[in-house]
Amino acid sequence: MGLQPADEAFITALAGQLPEQTLRPAEPRYLEEPRGHLHGKAGCVALPRNTHEVSIIMAAANAARVAVVPFGGGTGLVGGQIYSDGPTPLVLSLERMNRVLAVDRRENIIIAQAGAILESLHNAAEGQNRLFPLAIASSGTAQIGGNLATNAGGVNVLRYGNARDLCLGLEVVLPDGRIWNGLSRLRKDNTGYDLRNLMIGSEGTLGVITAASLKLFPRPSSYATGLFAVPTPDAAIRLLGLVREHAGEAVSAFELLHRNGYAFLRDTMPDIRQPFDDIPEWSVLLDLGLSAGINGQDLLEQVFAEGFEAGMVSNGLLAASLSQRDMLWSLRETIPLANRAIGAIASHDISLPIGSIPAFIEATSAALAELADVRVNCFGHLGDGNLHFNVFPAEGRQKSDYLPDRAKISSCVHELVSRMEGSISAEHGIGRLKTGELGKYGNPVKLALMQAIKAQFDPNGIMNPGAILALP
Ligand SMILES: Cc1cc2nc3c(=O)[nH]c(=O)nc-3n(C[C@H](O)[C@H](O)[C@H](O)COP(=O)(O)OP(=O)(O)OC[C@H]3O[C@@H](n4cnc5c(N)ncnc54)[C@H](O)[C@@H]3O)c2cc1C
Repeated sequence: MGLQPADEAFITALAGQLPEQTLRPAEPRYLEEPRGHLHGKAGCVALPRNTHEVSIIMAAANAARVAVVPFGGGTGLVGGQIYSDGPTPLVLSLERMNRVLAVDRRENIIIAQAGAILESLHNAAEGQNRLFPLAIASSGTAQIGGNLATNAGGVNVLRYGNARDLCLGLEVVLPDGRIWNGLSRLRKDNTGYDLRNLMIGSEGTLGVITAASLKLFPRPSSYATGLFAVPTPDAAIRLLGLVREHAGEAVSAFELLHRNGYAFLRDTMPDIRQPFDDIPEWSVLLDLGLSAGINGQDLLEQVFAEGFEAGMVSNGLLAASLSQRDMLWSLRETIPLANRAIGAIASHDISLPIGSIPAFIEATSAALAELADVRVNCFGHLGDGNLHFNVFPAEGRQKSDYLPDRAKISSCVHELVSRMEGSISAEHGIGRLKTGELGKYGNPVKLALMQAIKAQFDPNGIMNPGAILALP
């Protein structure tokens, strides 16, 4: 039997097994994604309050062969949370399961329900003088379950790793309604296949994450933040080596910025104060989180002096206060909004071996220039080899002018990524928008194993169909 719609008969029968108001008509916010590429369909959204209710919902959907689309904060950028083809699904929102359950200072662990907003984990950790370091600009809306389902990255991966590296254990409801309690607090546990890591990054295609236990860290006692102009991406990479020699693991973030990012901010948000009089072609925003007794300002001044001497930096400024630090970071975090206001022809969230980045930027920019008259804003988490390589219309032209070239532009970028042994999705995932690219550039053996794993966990194919693995 193929997938069936979540029709009135199904909803009525399911409603009978759940408290009132658990099933509601789906509001438009469950059917939109941030960049407006996809519009979803769903008659109903299920809003369970606990794991037992999630289990009831999954068991019923599995028996009736109704598709279920897990929905977190809805901030995913590849459409994994938006189901647009096939029989009407049931959207499953975790928003009522939003509690931080425990913060343990001694074990350095935080346990939360999957619907907890990322920012609430930050606040709960801070309340116990600890740090939960997952830092993404959508932290006020994204949920920890969504962060784990997408294996979110962000600016602090360099030091603390991505969502996967921060997770100790999960509780998951499987497609047939069984509950896997893997909410471990253990840091070492070699008892066979790692189901936690299979679930992380599976974008709602293998099960519903209902709770997670995660690592906490000491809060840095001070920060030092610098914005340095660098002549080239290669100089930026050498500067990263230099700052690490001086500051070691204290280097928490190292972000590459391109002139077009500042220009887009200037054009779309003129009230934002620009840090440089003359915008440099390339710059890096770097952040150190320091233990007590270390003077970060002196340290960065030393790095700047040595970097200047070696031709790695040409200009720069150091944040003299926390509010200046916030200002520099807000500038960085606002660039995606400026990008959106300008309107990208195509956006690429890619990663490369760090040493290949300068050659990649040069080769891809040259290849694109041959193809069309475009502007590139290449920026992002250079320290992790993760770039956002976004392509925009030339000044005075519209995104729609480039419609016929869009596929060619993306292929040009992804071909070079693939040739240089990079990844076509560094941190946003595959969702529904990149399934074609995954099919094209993914390793065939890995893809076959992924299909087999999906069939094992979800033989009826009800879990977020069409995400990651395209429907046949
Ligand atoms: C302004 C902005 C900045 C961003 N910056 C970054 C960044 O720096 N780094 C980064 O990695 N991402 C970034 N993102 C992307 C996005 O915020 C992340 O992918 C985030 O982890 C998604 O979480 P969510 O709760 O919004 O998930 P959703 O968008 O609701 O869902 C994403 C996927 O996870 C699945 N899912 C959600 N909850 C669950 C669950 N409980 N169980 C199983 N599956 C589930 C969904 O089905 C879907 O496939 C950004 C997005 C925006 C809008």
